[in-house]
Amino acid sequence: MIDFELTPEEQAMIDAAHKEALEVVRPISRYYDEHEHESPKDFIEQQWQQQAQGGGSILGLGVGASLRILENCWGDAGLMLVAPSSGLGGAAILASGTQEQQANFLKRFGEGEPKWGAMAMTEPGAGSDTAAIQTTAVLDTETNEWVLNGEKIFITGGQRSMESDGLVVVWATVDRTAGRAGMKPFVVEAGTPGATIDKVENKLGIRASDTATLILDNCRIPYENILGSPEVRRVDSSQTAGFKRAMATFDMTRPIIAAMALGVGRASLDFVRETLEKEGIPIRYGLPSHKLTAIERDVMEMEAAYKAALTLMLRATWMMSQFQPNSLEASMAKAKAGIVVAWITQKAVEMMGPLGYSRKYLLEKWMRDGKINDIFEGTGQINMLIVARRILDYTREELK
Ligand SMILES: Cc1cc2nc3c(=O)[nH]c(=O)nc-3n(C[C@H](O)[C@H](O)[C@H](O)COP(=O)(O)OP(=O)(O)OC[C@H]3O[C@@H](n4cnc5c(N)ncnc54)[C@H](O)[C@@H]3O)c2cc1C
Repeated sequence: MIDFELTPEEQAMIDAAHKEALEVVRPISRYYDEHEHESPKDFIEQQWQQQAQGGGSILGLGVGASLRILENCWGDAGLMLVAPSSGLGGAAILASGTQEQQANFLKRFGEGEPKWGAMAMTEPGAGSDTAAIQTTAVLDTETNEWVLNGEKIFITGGQRSMESDGLVVVWATVDRTAGRAGMKPFVVEAGTPGATIDKVENKLGIRASDTATLILDNCRIPYENILGSPEVRRVDSSQTAGFKRAMATFDMTRPIIAAMALGVGRASLDFVRETLEKEGIPIRYGLPSHKLTAIERDVMEMEAAYKAALTLMLRATWMMSQFQPNSLEASMAKAKAGIVVAWITQKAVEMMGPLGYSRKYLLEKWMRDGKINDIFEGTGQINMLIVARRILDYTREELK
Protein backbone atom coordinates (compact mmCIF):
# COMPACT_ATOMS: atom_id res chain seq x y z
CA MET A 1 0.00 0.00 0.00
CA ILE A 2 1.26 3.46 -0.86
CA ASP A 3 1.90 5.45 2.28
CA PHE A 4 2.92 9.11 2.27
CA GLU A 5 2.69 9.50 6.05
CA LEU A 6 5.64 11.29 7.58
CA THR A 7 7.41 10.38 10.78
CA PRO A 8 7.53 13.14 13.44
CA GLU A 9 11.28 13.48 12.68
CA GLU A 10 10.60 13.98 8.98
CA GLN A 11 7.91 16.55 9.69
CA ALA A 12 10.26 18.41 12.02
CA MET A 13 12.93 18.39 9.30
CA ILE A 14 10.46 19.81 6.75
CA ASP A 15 9.27 22.49 9.19
CA ALA A 16 12.88 23.46 9.90
CA ALA A 17 13.59 23.66 6.16
CA HIS A 18 10.60 25.97 5.70
CA LYS A 19 11.71 28.22 8.54
CA GLU A 20 15.21 28.37 7.12
CA ALA A 21 13.87 29.10 3.62
CA LEU A 22 11.88 32.02 5.00
CA GLU A 23 14.42 33.46 7.42
CA VAL A 24 17.80 32.64 5.87
CA VAL A 25 17.31 31.96 2.17
CA ARG A 26 14.64 34.42 0.99
CA PRO A 27 16.50 37.47 2.36
CA ILE A 28 19.59 36.68 0.20
CA SER A 29 17.70 35.32 -2.79
CA ARG A 30 17.61 38.52 -4.86
CA TYR A 31 21.23 39.36 -4.14
CA TYR A 32 22.58 36.11 -5.55
CA ASP A 33 20.23 36.31 -8.51
CA GLU A 34 21.74 39.69 -9.35
CA HIS A 35 25.34 38.69 -8.56
CA GLU A 36 25.42 35.55 -10.64
CA HIS A 37 28.95 34.29 -10.15
CA GLU A 38 29.48 35.47 -6.58
CA SER A 39 29.75 32.61 -4.12
CA PRO A 40 27.32 32.76 -1.16
CA LYS A 41 30.10 31.93 1.30
CA ASP A 42 28.16 32.47 4.54
CA PHE A 43 25.23 30.43 3.29
CA ILE A 44 27.53 27.57 2.21
CA GLU A 45 29.27 27.60 5.57
CA GLN A 46 25.97 27.59 7.43
CA GLN A 47 24.71 24.67 5.32
CA TRP A 48 27.95 22.80 5.88
CA GLN A 49 27.73 23.21 9.66
CA GLN A 50 24.15 22.04 9.56
CA GLN A 51 25.08 18.97 7.54
CA ALA A 52 27.91 18.14 9.95
CA GLN A 53 25.35 18.06 12.77
CA GLY A 54 22.89 16.04 10.67
CA GLY A 55 25.45 13.50 9.42
CA GLY A 56 26.37 14.46 5.85
CA SER A 57 24.92 15.57 2.59
CA ILE A 58 24.37 12.43 0.57
CA LEU A 59 21.16 12.50 -1.40
CA GLY A 60 18.13 11.45 0.64
CA LEU A 61 15.74 8.98 -0.90
CA GLY A 62 12.34 9.18 0.75
CA VAL A 63 9.13 11.18 0.76
CA GLY A 64 10.38 13.23 3.72
CA ALA A 65 13.60 14.15 1.91
CA SER A 66 11.75 15.18 -1.26
CA LEU A 67 9.39 17.41 0.75
CA ARG A 68 12.40 18.97 2.44
CA ILE A 69 13.87 19.75 -1.01
CA LEU A 70 10.52 21.25 -1.97
CA GLU A 71 10.77 23.61 1.03
CA ASN A 72 14.40 24.45 0.18
CA CYS A 73 13.29 25.46 -3.31
CA TRP A 74 10.31 27.36 -1.93
CA GLY A 75 13.15 29.46 -0.49
CA ASP A 76 15.40 29.53 -3.58
CA ALA A 77 16.05 26.79 -6.14
CA GLY A 78 19.42 28.21 -7.19
CA LEU A 79 20.69 28.43 -3.62
CA MET A 80 19.38 24.94 -2.91
CA LEU A 81 21.72 23.70 -5.66
CA VAL A 82 24.62 25.59 -4.06
CA ALA A 83 24.36 23.80 -0.70
CA PRO A 84 27.27 21.32 -0.41
CA SER A 85 26.06 18.00 -1.75
CA SER A 86 27.12 14.94 -3.72
CA GLY A 87 24.37 16.07 -6.13
CA LEU A 88 23.71 14.22 -9.35
CA GLY A 89 27.18 12.69 -9.15
CA GLY A 90 26.14 11.05 -5.88
CA ALA A 91 22.94 9.77 -7.47
CA ALA A 92 24.92 8.24 -10.35
CA ILE A 93 27.29 6.55 -7.88
CA LEU A 94 24.38 5.18 -5.87
CA ALA A 95 22.67 3.94 -9.04
CA SER A 96 25.74 2.40 -10.67
CA GLY A 97 28.55 1.88 -8.17
CA THR A 98 29.39 -1.21 -6.14
CA GLN A 99 28.97 -0.95 -2.37
CA GLU A 100 32.69 -0.43 -2.09
CA GLN A 101 32.65 2.38 -4.67
CA GLN A 102 29.70 4.01 -2.94
CA ALA A 103 31.53 3.97 0.38
CA ASN A 104 34.80 5.09 -1.15
CA PHE A 105 33.54 7.95 -3.31
CA LEU A 106 30.72 9.24 -1.11
CA LYS A 107 32.41 9.31 2.28
CA ARG A 108 34.28 12.53 1.40
CA PHE A 109 30.98 14.42 1.32
CA GLY A 110 30.63 14.19 5.09
CA GLU A 111 34.24 15.11 5.95
CA GLY A 112 36.55 18.11 6.13
CA GLU A 113 35.62 21.10 3.94
CA PRO A 114 32.40 21.68 1.93
CA LYS A 115 32.28 19.57 -1.23
CA TRP A 116 30.11 19.12 -4.28
CA GLY A 117 29.40 16.38 -6.78
CA ALA A 118 28.03 16.66 -10.33
CA MET A 119 27.13 14.60 -13.34
CA ALA A 120 28.21 15.30 -16.93
CA MET A 121 26.21 13.74 -19.71
CA THR A 122 25.44 16.62 -22.09
CA GLU A 123 27.82 17.52 -24.93
CA PRO A 124 27.68 20.08 -27.75
CA GLY A 125 26.27 17.37 -30.06
CA ALA A 126 24.38 15.28 -27.49
CA GLY A 127 21.54 16.60 -25.33
CA SER A 128 18.24 14.74 -25.43
CA ASP A 129 19.87 12.07 -27.57
CA THR A 130 22.30 10.89 -24.91
CA ALA A 131 23.41 7.94 -27.03
CA ALA A 132 25.15 10.42 -29.35
CA ILE A 133 27.87 11.23 -26.78
CA GLN A 134 31.35 11.44 -28.29
CA THR A 135 33.52 11.62 -25.15
CA THR A 136 35.74 8.56 -25.16
CA ALA A 137 37.27 6.42 -22.43
CA VAL A 138 40.14 4.21 -23.56
CA LEU A 139 41.86 1.75 -21.27
CA ASP A 140 45.65 2.11 -21.20
CA THR A 141 46.54 -1.50 -20.46
CA GLU A 142 50.12 -0.62 -19.49
CA THR A 143 49.16 1.71 -16.65
CA ASN A 144 45.69 0.26 -16.07
CA GLU A 145 44.15 3.72 -16.31
CA TRP A 146 41.21 5.07 -18.29
CA VAL A 147 42.09 7.94 -20.60
CA LEU A 148 39.16 10.33 -21.11
CA ASN A 149 38.84 12.83 -23.97
CA GLY A 150 35.91 15.08 -24.81
CA GLU A 151 33.86 18.15 -23.89
CA LYS A 152 30.97 18.15 -21.42
CA ILE A 153 28.69 21.18 -21.20
CA PHE A 154 25.98 22.53 -18.88
CA ILE A 155 27.17 20.67 -15.77
CA THR A 156 25.21 21.79 -12.72
CA GLY A 157 27.67 22.45 -9.92
CA GLY A 158 30.55 21.48 -12.22
CA GLN A 159 32.80 24.33 -11.16
CA ARG A 160 32.22 23.87 -7.42
CA SER A 161 32.78 20.12 -7.77
CA MET A 162 36.14 20.59 -9.45
CA GLU A 163 37.23 23.44 -7.17
CA SER A 164 36.38 21.61 -3.95
CA ASP A 165 37.62 18.10 -3.18
CA GLY A 166 34.53 16.82 -5.01
CA LEU A 167 33.94 14.78 -8.15
CA VAL A 168 32.11 14.70 -11.46
CA VAL A 169 30.61 11.51 -12.85
CA VAL A 170 31.39 11.69 -16.57
CA TRP A 171 29.51 9.59 -19.11
CA ALA A 172 31.83 8.42 -21.87
CA THR A 173 31.81 5.72 -24.49
CA VAL A 174 34.25 2.84 -24.43
CA ASP A 175 33.16 1.93 -27.97
CA ARG A 176 31.61 4.54 -30.26
CA THR A 177 30.34 1.87 -32.64
CA ALA A 178 28.34 0.19 -29.86
CA GLY A 179 25.85 3.05 -29.30
CA ARG A 180 24.10 2.90 -25.94
CA ALA A 181 25.88 -0.31 -24.95
CA GLY A 182 29.22 1.50 -24.97
CA MET A 183 28.14 4.27 -22.58
CA LYS A 184 29.73 4.06 -19.12
CA PRO A 185 29.95 6.35 -16.09
CA PHE A 186 33.41 7.31 -14.78
CA VAL A 187 34.30 9.16 -11.61
CA VAL A 188 36.63 12.08 -12.29
CA GLU A 189 37.91 13.41 -8.99
CA ALA A 190 38.73 17.07 -8.47
CA GLY A 191 42.34 17.91 -9.20
CA THR A 192 42.82 15.17 -11.81
CA PRO A 193 45.25 16.46 -14.48
CA GLY A 194 43.57 16.85 -17.87
CA ALA A 195 40.16 17.79 -16.42
CA THR A 196 39.60 21.55 -16.55
CA ILE A 197 36.64 23.86 -16.22
CA ASP A 198 36.52 25.91 -19.40
CA LYS A 199 33.63 28.28 -18.77
CA VAL A 200 30.64 28.99 -16.57
CA GLU A 201 27.30 29.91 -18.16
CA ASN A 202 25.34 33.15 -17.70
CA LYS A 203 21.75 32.02 -17.24
CA LEU A 204 18.09 33.02 -17.25
CA GLY A 205 17.32 31.47 -13.87
CA ILE A 206 18.81 29.48 -10.94
CA ARG A 207 21.61 32.01 -11.24
CA ALA A 208 23.15 31.22 -7.84
CA SER A 209 24.02 27.77 -9.19
CA ASP A 210 27.07 27.35 -11.43
CA THR A 211 26.64 25.57 -14.77
CA ALA A 212 30.00 24.67 -16.25
CA THR A 213 31.85 23.25 -19.24
CA LEU A 214 34.41 20.54 -18.50
CA ILE A 215 37.20 19.75 -20.95
CA LEU A 216 38.77 16.31 -20.72
CA ASP A 217 42.14 16.26 -22.42
CA ASN A 218 43.93 12.95 -21.98
CA CYS A 219 42.51 12.87 -18.49
CA ARG A 220 43.81 9.75 -16.74
CA ILE A 221 41.80 8.13 -13.97
CA PRO A 222 42.34 4.85 -12.08
CA TYR A 223 40.76 1.70 -13.50
CA GLU A 224 38.50 1.42 -10.40
CA ASN A 225 36.78 4.72 -11.27
CA ILE A 226 34.49 3.09 -13.80
CA LEU A 227 31.07 2.54 -12.22
CA GLY A 228 29.70 -0.88 -13.11
CA SER A 229 31.13 -3.29 -15.64
CA PRO A 230 33.39 -2.18 -18.53
CA GLU A 231 31.96 -4.99 -20.65
CA VAL A 232 30.10 -3.91 -23.81
CA ARG A 233 27.12 -6.14 -24.44
CA ARG A 234 25.99 -5.65 -28.03
CA VAL A 235 22.42 -6.83 -27.63
CA ASP A 236 19.73 -5.42 -29.87
CA SER A 237 17.88 -3.62 -27.13
CA SER A 238 17.59 -0.11 -25.79
CA GLN A 239 18.07 -1.44 -22.27
CA THR A 240 21.78 -2.28 -22.53
CA ALA A 241 23.76 -2.35 -19.33
CA GLY A 242 25.55 1.01 -19.66
CA PHE A 243 22.45 2.90 -20.72
CA LYS A 244 20.38 1.18 -18.04
CA ARG A 245 22.65 2.73 -15.43
CA ALA A 246 22.01 6.18 -16.91
CA MET A 247 18.27 5.53 -16.72
CA ALA A 248 18.57 4.21 -13.16
CA THR A 249 20.25 7.49 -12.22
CA PHE A 250 17.42 9.48 -13.80
CA ASP A 251 14.84 7.33 -11.99
CA MET A 252 16.38 8.64 -8.77
CA THR A 253 16.88 12.23 -9.79
CA ARG A 254 13.70 13.00 -11.76
CA PRO A 255 11.41 12.87 -8.70
CA ILE A 256 13.86 15.23 -6.98
CA ILE A 257 13.69 17.68 -9.90
CA ALA A 258 9.89 17.42 -9.67
CA ALA A 259 10.12 18.35 -5.97
CA MET A 260 12.33 21.31 -6.85
CA ALA A 261 9.82 22.49 -9.44
CA LEU A 262 6.99 22.19 -6.94
CA GLY A 263 8.85 24.32 -4.40
CA VAL A 264 9.09 27.17 -6.91
CA GLY A 265 5.47 26.64 -7.99
CA ARG A 266 4.18 26.78 -4.44
CA ALA A 267 6.19 29.89 -3.67
CA SER A 268 4.37 31.63 -6.55
CA LEU A 269 0.98 30.28 -5.52
CA ASP A 270 1.50 31.41 -1.93
CA PHE A 271 2.50 34.87 -3.15
CA VAL A 272 -0.69 35.13 -5.21
CA ARG A 273 -2.93 34.01 -2.34
CA GLU A 274 -1.25 36.30 0.19
CA THR A 275 -1.45 39.28 -2.13
CA LEU A 276 -5.14 38.66 -2.84
CA GLU A 277 -5.84 38.27 0.85
CA LYS A 278 -4.12 41.58 1.60
CA GLU A 279 -6.30 43.19 -1.06
CA GLY A 280 -9.39 41.73 0.63
CA ILE A 281 -10.06 39.18 -2.11
CA PRO A 282 -10.58 35.80 -0.45
CA ILE A 283 -10.75 32.55 -2.41
CA ARG A 284 -14.22 31.12 -1.75
CA TYR A 285 -13.82 27.36 -1.79
CA GLY A 286 -16.84 25.08 -2.05
CA LEU A 287 -18.95 27.25 -4.36
CA PRO A 288 -20.25 25.86 -7.65
CA SER A 289 -17.97 26.95 -10.47
CA HIS A 290 -20.51 29.31 -12.10
CA LYS A 291 -20.52 31.40 -8.89
CA LEU A 292 -16.74 31.88 -8.81
CA THR A 293 -14.91 34.94 -10.05
CA ALA A 294 -12.34 34.51 -12.79
CA ILE A 295 -9.52 35.02 -10.30
CA GLU A 296 -10.90 32.38 -7.94
CA ARG A 297 -11.12 29.90 -10.82
CA ASP A 298 -7.54 30.69 -11.83
CA VAL A 299 -6.22 30.13 -8.31
CA MET A 300 -8.16 26.88 -7.93
CA GLU A 301 -6.92 25.60 -11.29
CA MET A 302 -3.37 26.42 -10.29
CA GLU A 303 -3.85 24.63 -6.96
CA ALA A 304 -5.32 21.57 -8.69
CA ALA A 305 -2.40 21.39 -11.12
CA TYR A 306 0.04 21.79 -8.24
CA LYS A 307 -1.61 18.99 -6.25
CA ALA A 308 -1.72 16.63 -9.25
CA ALA A 309 2.02 17.15 -9.78
CA LEU A 310 2.68 16.84 -6.04
CA THR A 311 0.88 13.49 -5.90
CA LEU A 312 2.86 12.17 -8.87
CA MET A 313 6.09 13.33 -7.28
CA LEU A 314 5.25 11.68 -3.96
CA ARG A 315 4.34 8.43 -5.66
CA ALA A 316 7.57 8.31 -7.69
CA THR A 317 9.62 9.16 -4.59
CA TRP A 318 7.84 6.67 -2.40
CA MET A 319 8.39 3.88 -4.98
CA MET A 320 12.07 4.80 -5.10
CA SER A 321 12.29 4.59 -1.30
CA GLN A 322 10.75 1.10 -1.48
CA PHE A 323 13.26 0.09 -4.21
CA GLN A 324 10.38 -0.46 -6.62
CA PRO A 325 10.96 0.15 -10.36
CA ASN A 326 9.73 3.72 -10.92
CA SER A 327 10.88 4.78 -14.42
CA LEU A 328 7.35 5.47 -15.63
CA GLU A 329 6.33 7.30 -12.45
CA ALA A 330 9.60 9.29 -12.28
CA SER A 331 9.13 10.53 -15.86
CA MET A 332 5.44 11.26 -15.25
CA ALA A 333 6.27 13.29 -12.15
CA LYS A 334 9.09 15.18 -13.83
CA ALA A 335 7.10 15.96 -17.02
CA LYS A 336 4.02 17.09 -15.09
CA ALA A 337 5.92 19.17 -12.53
CA GLY A 338 7.97 20.85 -15.28
CA ILE A 339 4.84 21.89 -17.15
CA VAL A 340 3.00 22.88 -13.97
CA VAL A 341 5.77 25.08 -12.59
CA ALA A 342 6.19 26.90 -15.91
CA TRP A 343 2.44 27.46 -16.13
CA ILE A 344 1.85 28.43 -12.48
CA THR A 345 4.73 30.90 -12.33
CA GLN A 346 3.80 32.54 -15.63
CA LYS A 347 0.12 32.67 -14.71
CA ALA A 348 1.01 34.18 -11.33
CA VAL A 349 3.04 36.94 -13.00
CA GLU A 350 0.12 37.59 -15.34
CA MET A 351 -2.41 37.74 -12.48
CA MET A 352 -0.27 40.00 -10.33
CA GLY A 353 0.43 42.44 -13.17
CA PRO A 354 3.10 45.01 -12.20
CA LEU A 355 3.75 43.22 -8.88
CA GLY A 356 4.59 40.13 -10.89
CA TYR A 357 6.84 41.91 -13.34
CA SER A 358 8.67 44.14 -10.88
CA ARG A 359 12.05 43.10 -9.49
CA LYS A 360 10.88 44.40 -6.14
CA TYR A 361 9.30 41.00 -5.57
CA LEU A 362 10.65 37.52 -6.22
CA LEU A 363 7.76 36.37 -8.41
CA GLU A 364 9.42 37.30 -11.71
CA LYS A 365 12.52 35.44 -10.52
CA TRP A 366 10.51 32.32 -9.77
CA MET A 367 9.17 32.42 -13.32
CA ARG A 368 12.77 32.39 -14.56
CA ASP A 369 13.90 29.78 -12.01
CA GLY A 370 11.00 27.42 -12.63
CA LYS A 371 11.59 26.84 -16.33
CA ILE A 372 14.80 24.86 -15.86
CA ASN A 373 12.81 21.99 -14.38
CA ASP A 374 11.28 21.49 -17.81
CA ILE A 375 14.73 21.30 -19.41
CA PHE A 376 17.36 19.44 -17.39
CA GLU A 377 17.22 15.73 -16.47
CA GLY A 378 15.30 15.13 -19.71
CA THR A 379 13.13 17.83 -21.24
CA GLY A 380 9.35 17.75 -20.85
CA GLN A 381 9.01 16.31 -24.35
CA ILE A 382 11.54 13.54 -23.70
CA ASN A 383 9.88 12.55 -20.43
CA MET A 384 6.47 12.47 -22.13
CA LEU A 385 8.00 10.28 -24.82
CA ILE A 386 9.23 7.88 -22.12
CA VAL A 387 5.78 7.83 -20.53
CA ALA A 388 4.11 7.14 -23.88
CA ARG A 389 6.55 4.33 -24.71
CA ARG A 390 5.98 2.68 -21.35
CA ILE A 391 2.20 2.97 -21.36
CA LEU A 392 1.79 1.93 -25.00
CA ASP A 393 4.54 -0.68 -24.82
CA TYR A 394 6.57 0.73 -27.69
CA THR A 395 10.32 0.35 -27.99
CA ARG A 396 12.64 3.32 -28.38
CA GLU A 397 12.93 2.48 -32.10
CA GLU A 398 9.15 2.31 -32.56
CA LEU A 399 8.39 5.67 -30.89
CA LYS A 400 11.05 8.36 -31.34
C1 LIG B 1 20.90 25.19 -16.29
C2 LIG B 1 21.16 23.85 -16.88
C3 LIG B 1 21.73 22.86 -16.11
C4 LIG B 1 22.02 21.61 -16.66
N1 LIG B 1 22.63 20.66 -15.90
C5 LIG B 1 23.06 19.52 -16.47
C6 LIG B 1 23.84 18.57 -15.75
O1 LIG B 1 24.11 18.74 -14.55
N2 LIG B 1 24.33 17.49 -16.41
C7 LIG B 1 24.06 17.25 -17.74
O2 LIG B 1 24.53 16.25 -18.27
N3 LIG B 1 23.28 18.11 -18.45
C8 LIG B 1 22.79 19.23 -17.86
N4 LIG B 1 22.04 20.13 -18.57
C9 LIG B 1 21.74 19.85 -19.97
C10 LIG B 1 20.30 19.42 -20.18
O3 LIG B 1 20.09 18.15 -19.63
C11 LIG B 1 20.03 19.48 -21.69
O4 LIG B 1 19.99 20.84 -22.06
C12 LIG B 1 18.76 18.77 -22.07
O5 LIG B 1 18.91 17.40 -21.93
C13 LIG B 1 18.32 19.07 -23.51
O6 LIG B 1 19.35 18.86 -24.39
P1 LIG B 1 19.73 19.97 -25.48
O7 LIG B 1 19.95 21.24 -24.73
O8 LIG B 1 20.84 19.47 -26.32
O9 LIG B 1 18.43 20.14 -26.34
P2 LIG B 1 17.93 19.24 -27.55
O10 LIG B 1 18.06 17.80 -27.23
O11 LIG B 1 18.59 19.74 -28.79
O12 LIG B 1 16.40 19.62 -27.57
C14 LIG B 1 15.90 20.85 -28.08
C15 LIG B 1 14.38 20.76 -28.06
O13 LIG B 1 13.93 19.67 -28.89
C16 LIG B 1 13.12 18.79 -28.14
N5 LIG B 1 13.35 17.39 -28.57
C17 LIG B 1 14.54 16.77 -28.70
N6 LIG B 1 14.35 15.49 -29.09
C18 LIG B 1 13.02 15.30 -29.18
C19 LIG B 1 12.19 14.18 -29.51
N7 LIG B 1 12.70 13.00 -29.82
N8 LIG B 1 10.85 14.37 -29.50
C20 LIG B 1 10.29 15.57 -29.17
N9 LIG B 1 11.03 16.65 -28.85
C21 LIG B 1 12.37 16.53 -28.84
C22 LIG B 1 13.52 18.98 -26.69
O14 LIG B 1 12.49 18.60 -25.82
C23 LIG B 1 13.80 20.48 -26.67
O15 LIG B 1 12.60 21.18 -26.51
C24 LIG B 1 21.70 21.36 -18.02
C25 LIG B 1 21.08 22.35 -18.80
C26 LIG B 1 20.81 23.58 -18.24
C27 LIG B 1 20.17 24.62 -19.11
